[in-house]
Amino acid sequence: MVKIGLKFQATLENIEELNPTDPNFRWGLKLKCSNCNESTDKWHYLSLNEEVPAPHGKDIHHLVCKCKLCSRVNTVTIIKDSIKKYTAEDTEKFKTIAVFDCRGLEPTEFSPGDGWVVKTIENGTEFEDVDLSDLPWADYCDKVKKPVSVDDIRYEFEKVK
Ligand SMILES: [Zn+2]
Repeated sequence: MVKIGLKFQATLENIEELNPTDPNFRWGLKLKCSNCNESTDKWHYLSLNEEVPAPHGKDIHHLVCKCKLCSRVNTVTIIKDSIKKYTAEDTEKFKTIAVFDCRGLEPTEFSPGDGWVVKTIENGTEFEDVDLSDLPWADYCDKVKKPVSVDDIRYEFEKVK
């Protein structure tokens, strides 16, 4: 088993936090089989609320998929406690916002997608179900009378010990 962290970076303007901690939040990943190196163009969407029983044993996973090339059954489990908000202090710096327990495969790409809760600074508006797939995302907070935006999302995957 390999734990792989998703290191995330964004540029925030007048935003207190980007929150992906809702259990329905969907993590869009492309994956590569560690056994045969087969990677597909297919996006997989994993969320804490969608548990998949393990092929053997009692473990709970968030993705079970069979590699088309080598037929190995591989799994990914989102580690619940690893999911973090990305906050104003993190802007333009990498922060690990999720860790995945990967068995037999590893993520190669991440799609930010929708479902983010975006909170404005100074107790301003909370925007729900924000889609960060098309950047920049920009809006205006009527409460604090300031523009808000998210841009320059970057990510890296890193093995976690
Ligand atoms: Zn394979």
